Amino acid sequence: MTFISQPKKEIPIIYEADVCVLGGSCTGLFAAIRAARLGAKVVVIEKNNCLGGTATAGLVNIWHSLFDTDYKEQVIAGLTDEFEQRLLRENALVFENNVSVGCRFNPARLACLLDEMANENNIKLFLHTYYSDVITEKDKINAVIVNNKNGVGAIQAKFFIDASGDGDIARDIGLESYKYDYLQPPTSCFYIQGNTDDCNISQVIADHGKEFGLDDDWGWYGTVPNLKNISFRADNHIFDVDCSNADDLTKAEIEGRRKAKAFTDMFKKYCNSDIELVSLCSNIGIRDTLHYKTRFKASEIELLTKNNYDDVILKGTYRIDMHHQNDNGITFKYLDGTYVTLFGKDERTEKGNWRDELGINSEVLKYYSVPFDILVQEKFSNFIPVGRMLNADSAAFGALRVMVNLNQLGEAAGVAAYMCIDANKSVQELNGISVKNKLNKGGSTL
Ligand SMILES: Cc1cc2nc3c(=O)[nH]c(=O)nc-3n(C[C@H](O)[C@H](O)[C@H](O)COP(=O)(O)OP(=O)(O)OC[C@H]3O[C@@H](n4cnc5c(N)ncnc54)[C@H](O)[C@@H]3O)c2cc1C
Repeated sequence: MTFISQPKKEIPIIYEADVCVLGGSCTGLFAAIRAARLGAKVVVIEKNNCLGGTATAGLVNIWHSLFDTDYKEQVIAGLTDEFEQRLLRENALVFENNVSVGCRFNPARLACLLDEMANENNIKLFLHTYYSDVITEKDKINAVIVNNKNGVGAIQAKFFIDASGDGDIARDIGLESYKYDYLQPPTSCFYIQGNTDDCNISQVIADHGKEFGLDDDWGWYGTVPNLKNISFRADNHIFDVDCSNADDLTKAEIEGRRKAKAFTDMFKKYCNSDIELVSLCSNIGIRDTLHYKTRFKASEIELLTKNNYDDVILKGTYRIDMHHQNDNGITFKYLDGTYVTLFGKDERTEKGNWRDELGINSEVLKYYSVPFDILVQEKFSNFIPVGRMLNADSAAFGALRVMVNLNQLGEAAGVAAYMCIDANKSVQELNGISVKNKLNKGGSTL
């Protein structure tokens, strides 16, 4: 690579806050709301035109169950519950409460609600604003550099939360990172109009996919509350790309759109001639890129068999859900010990019981949990990375990566940020149990 030098220039400070959150997905905005409700002045930087990340720009409209595996005890509350109740009042959400779906919501209405909640909580938003660099001083982050229609500017804050998915600030401050050998592949979601109920989608892909340049692949689809004759589609995967790489991300977006169009054309020809492409996601849905090292790394067996942390900040039940990179399989593993891998159109399944295979006799858990240390990196005193970049092995990540879980981590990050500022402590000095207690005071059930 060759280089060019940029002349040194003064950058205007465009905003000063207590807490600066990069990324306005639910993870990021929930962090922002929690910090703001405790009294912090909060700013959120988001490159899209709306808040919500994968849930809005990516069209992914399912939140998983807030209950234990018996659907009796509510183990998740806080802002996820608050948002669900508000969406329910708008007729923009339906509950299903089963192992696959807790509720489905209308992503457009979620985007509007996120705007309203940001406003109600006095959060300063910078939309269409791209984070590009960070300024550090010893063990502290001093400012981040952003680009938007006004040009280049700096945002200063006492505490920084990186909820950018890939962990762009974490990368730039040199936190130690890793990737799995096989990244869970991304998917471009889309809406079609027209009924596919009488169509055996797997068979159509098997018989005609090649004609439309589609892989031997499978995914899922669903409904959107109150939308008639329109379905949400997540049929495709884009293989062999790493979406934290700019060239691969470009390639994945283009290939994702091509596949959405190809699926629509195939359905139109072989299922129902009324089918049409209604809309595409504005961002490809990225499942997995980089992960950053923190004090606690979630691991598969510990996640599924241990839930008695004193400093718990997340409770969940969503199964391990791993989309394979190399053989068209999706593996699900459950707290009760069962597992199954589905290999799409071949309708081949592999089933078993991991508890029996590993000789585990401990009590079957009704939910799993994660301690505060998953948010604590060791390098910078005023920084938390949070979201799908979390520290976990690939199977534990398969369960934790869903939104009801990341929403809770976001809330914990916001509360921890406020507490650090309030007590003039570093994130490493913070007591996880007091973070848990403060979360519960604000509506969590930990
Ligand atoms: C196809 C698909 C289906 C899924 N299905 C489900 C499901 O049914 N239920 C479920 O709960 N989970 C599901 N998941 C997983 C879940 O959606 C994601 O793991 C989760 O949304 C990731 O959240 P995040 O906040 O870490 O990242 P993101 O949602 O990616 O949010 C990151 C935000 O940061 C912004 N950002 C990034 N970089 C910058 C920058 N440099 N400057 C400014 N802003 C920036 C982005 O625009 C974005 O808004 C699915 C994922 C995919 C891809």
